[in-house]
Amino acid sequence: MKILSGLSLAEIEKITDELHASKFRARQIHNWIYLKSVKSIDEMTDLSVKFREELKKIAVVTDIKIKVKQVSSDGTIKYLIEYPDGECVETVLMRFDNRANLTACVSSQIGCAVNCSFCATGKRGFIRNLSYKEIIEQVLTIQRDTGLKVTNIVFMGQGEPLLNLENVLKAMEIFNENFQIGARRLTVSTSGIVPKIYELAENDMQSTLAISLHAPNHEIRKKLMPVENKYDMKELKLALKKYVEKTGRRITIEYLLIKGLNDSPESAKELAEYLSDIKCNINLIPYNPTEQNDYQKPSNNTIQKFKYLLEHSGKKVTVRLERGADIDAACGQLRGKIN
Ligand code: SAH
Ligand code: SF4
Repeated sequence: MKILSGLSLAEIEKITDELHASKFRARQIHNWIYLKSVKSIDEMTDLSVKFREELKKIAVVTDIKIKVKQVSSDGTIKYLIEYPDGECVETVLMRFDNRANLTACVSSQIGCAVNCSFCATGKRGFIRNLSYKEIIEQVLTIQRDTGLKVTNIVFMGQGEPLLNLENVLKAMEIFNENFQIGARRLTVSTSGIVPKIYELAENDMQSTLAISLHAPNHEIRKKLMPVENKYDMKELKLALKKYVEKTGRRITIEYLLIKGLNDSPESAKELAEYLSDIKCNINLIPYNPTEQNDYQKPSNNTIQKFKYLLEHSGKKVTVRLERGADIDAACGQLRGKIN
């Protein structure tokens, strides 16, 4: 059986050729899959019943299953998706700005090898990469289930996207071309895999690059992120400067605020100093407690003070809204486990 989700127009044309149908049929199927997000071939109502029957003999829309769906009181929806090999992954739909903005948070790998000390995904270790089709299937699942069209995509679910770059780039191309989501509405978040950042710079990537920095200096970052031993903040900074120079794009710096660890006024000043010559916005993420460790979230007062000090250095700073906390859909809580 052929799986229609994830196929390019050219690939769908091969199927319509096989069935001796016109290329126009391929375009119709393509629209049903990516823009109207149907669940079955029967819903493709502008195809004749006879043609649908023939198509059904050789193809299906998708081969994934929704294992669990949880809806939060703030409208966030979390899905646990199962692929044919039995591996599961989580994907989240967040609604901002009166629902005009529908952001899908997608996973790029099953598990993650980077093993940051604060992250629930990392605790599972690395299982395998997702194919580009498996990545886009997450967004299609959301669209099929809700009947809504996703407008923004962030690679902030499970996995380190830059360690599965080929599939991530191919998925982004499809989000861009088939889903008609603009490059600037796509964000790739990375723990800082330096050689791959240079690669993105060379590709002149126009999507948003988000860096999970989380620390103001080498000593603190080492405690949180083992990747700091491989690519330290000095090296990272050179890569970021190259990236800005090549792409002209502003980087997003993600900074997890953990009580007593990286949330002091000294840390804020040191961070501002580190970022002083990098074109960036800063996104502060109050730590989301998980069961795996005893890190805590700082008080609101501490968060506001930290924000103020950074703003004082001339940067644009936002504090990430907590979404879906009641369904464990918050960052770092995506584990893909079946409870
Ligand atoms: N591997 C990539 C992308 C996935 S993680 C990366 O690390 O950037 C997406 C974001 O969630 C990262 O910024 C990560 O640091 C953050 N995150 C992980 N655990 C978290 C937690 N417990 N609370 C809040 N944010 C967390
Ligand atoms: Fe991997 Fe990102 Fe979690 Fe670190 S924060 S373990 S890089 S998913």
